[in-house]
Formats: sequence, structure tokens, C-alpha cells
Amino acid sequence: MRTNSVALVTGGNRGLGKEIARQLSRLGMRTIIGARDEKKGADAAAELTSNGFQTASVVLDVDLADSVSEAVSRVTADFGNIEILINNAGIAIESLNPILSTFLSISPEVALKTFSTNTLGPMRMMQAVLPHMAENNYGRIVNVSSRAGQLQELRQGLAAYRISKTALNSLTRAVAAEYAQQNIKINCMCPGWIRTAMGGNAAPLTAEEGADTAIWLATLPSDGPTGGFYRSRQLLQW
Ligand code: NAP
Repeated sequence: MRTNSVALVTGGNRGLGKEIARQLSRLGMRTIIGARDEKKGADAAAELTSNGFQTASVVLDVDLADSVSEAVSRVTADFGNIEILINNAGIAIESLNPILSTFLSISPEVALKTFSTNTLGPMRMMQAVLPHMAENNYGRIVNVSSRAGQLQELRQGLAAYRISKTALNSLTRAVAAEYAQQNIKINCMCPGWIRTAMGGNAAPLTAEEGADTAIWLATLPSDGPTGGFYRSRQLLQW
């Protein structure tokens, strides 16, 4: 594992992203919390810095191409490179709104917004970061997906969220294949059902438990896997 790497975590101001940032910092990475709200990002980074970690924040809204390119330029200018990217930012509009519990209630606007954040967000981030990783022949990208998008398990409900994560899995595989000849590992993972604002209080797992597989994938050795879908460090079917 390379310590002192620069790691950028999208949606790092709370929930799973903040926990992943904490665990990467604990491993000695220089961790940058991407947050769309400047103060929330700065507060989360300050909390980790007060624990003795090397953590900073950057304004980053993965829905906006300009915000993505500005954030990546800022981080590379300030820290020299980005070696680890955690595409964690995500939304589940339907799960927060009981009115959207049936397929017929989901508008194309809800589906498009969900797709923009959960699928195109990681795509924008990878397109901004991969040229730097390719130049340095090193990169670890973790796309935080969900078993809700696993085709074998697809059930009713959350249709917009599910298709956004299925598409994220497909994107992961396609991009990983393109970079397979370089020391760049691109995988997706499901954290399990975790207690965050999105997961709710009834979830059986903590964010700390959910972060484990992401940390493992973010620190893979050069002979580690690429283009896979994991949960609890085990390969999942698509
Ligand atoms: P959460 O508590 O709702 O946190 C979501 C994070 O994403 C927040 O930091 C939020 O920022 C950020 N975000 C949303 N839209 C964004 C945008 N356009 N640009 C930048 N940041 C944005 O959710 P979570 O449970 O930690 O989920 C993290 C990831 O895990 C998501 O990809 C989710 O799909 C996945 N996941 C979660 C569970 C679960 O049980 N919780 C299960 C499977 C997969 P703001 O604070 O500004 O809103």
C-alpha cells in the first residue's frame, strides 16, 4: 500500500464518504473531502485534522462539469496529484419520498437527476482524474454502487436509483477494461445497508463497517483486481 497518497472523496462531508475519508486519513493518506457546500466540507475536514490527520476540503458538486474540473485542478495544483478517487456522492430521491414508491410515480426528471449524480457524476470525475493517473501509471478508483443495482437481485421499487447503479457498474467495467494495461484499478462496491441519512436508523451496519471494502479497493496492490463488483471484499455477480 502506498501511504501519503492523495485521495479525493466525493460527498465526503457526511455519511459513508466522511467515514471513508477518516479511514483513508488514518492509513496516512492525504485526504481531500469533496463537498458541494463549502462550510460542510471545511467542517468535516477540520474534524479529521483535529484528530491529527492530513485532511483538506474542496468545493465539488459532481452534477456540474465546471465544478468537477475546478475541483480536480485545485487539488492537483495544491497536492501535485490524485492517486485515489472515491466516487461516493449519491442520491436516492425515491427512498426519501414515499410518494415515489411506485414505478408509475417516478418522473423522467427524477430519473435524470438520479442518473446525473449517481452515474454521470462518477463519469465526470473519472474523465477529469484519469489523465493524471495515466501520466503517473498509478490510480485506484472506487465507485460506490449498491446491490440495488445488481441485475440478478433486481426487485421492485427505487427504479431510478436501481438503474443509476446498474449503469454505474457497467461504466466501471468499461473504463476498467480500457485502463487494464496500466497500474490503474477501477472497481465498484456495495457498502451494505448502513446507518446514514440515506440508509436510515434501521440499517444493520455502521458506516465504519460499510467503508471496509472501499478502503481495501482503494489500497489494492499492483496485482489486485480491476473491473469487479464487491461487497464484504467478495466478488458479486453483476
Ligand atoms: P448520505 O448520508 O445521504 O450522503 C450522501 C453524500 O453525497 C452527502 O455528502 C451529499 O452531500 C453527497 N452528494 C449528493 N449529491 C451530490 C452532488 N451532486 N455533488 C456532490 N456531493 C453530493 O448517503 P450515504 O448512505 O453516505 O451514501 C453514500 C454512497 O453509498 C451513495 O453512493 C449511496 O448510493 C451508497 N449506498 C448507500 C447505502 C446505505 O445503506 N446508506 C447502501 C448502498 C449504497 P450533501 O451533504 O451536500 O447533501
